Amino acid sequence: MAVTFLTTSLIVFFVKPAWERDVELNEYQVLAMKTKKALGESFDLMHSVYGLCGEVGEYADAVKKHQVYGRPFDAENAIEEIGDVMWFVALAADCLGVDLNEIAERNIKKLAKRYPDRYSDLHAELRLDKF
Ligand SMILES: [Mg+2]
Repeated sequence: MAVTFLTTSLIVFFVKPAWERDVELNEYQVLAMKTKKALGESFDLMHSVYGLCGEVGEYADAVKKHQVYGRPFDAENAIEEIGDVMWFVALAADCLGVDLNEIAERNIKKLAKRYPDRYSDLHAELRLDKF
């Protein structure tokens, strides 16, 4: 049973391209960074900041068109823009020498301290993770 599962998993991993299977955060980062323009280390951090600002703006524009101009919400476009945001988050992580799993783990630990059970306005005010 375990051998069958392992064999099937290996076949899926090696036969299916990344876009046809679930991609883990660190694998995504590696694949994304293969598409990075070679600007050099000193420009990569700046590229990540400008890129994040631009892509977050494109996501905001998708929401604005719906909420301000009353157009149907284009979820496909919004999802694409969030993907672009992810690409620049991966670049930022790469510049900072960490992988996306580490960032996700640090963030979820911080949130677990800040909100021991779930979100509350009181815990948001207390910011228990800062002590
Ligand atoms: Mg975009």
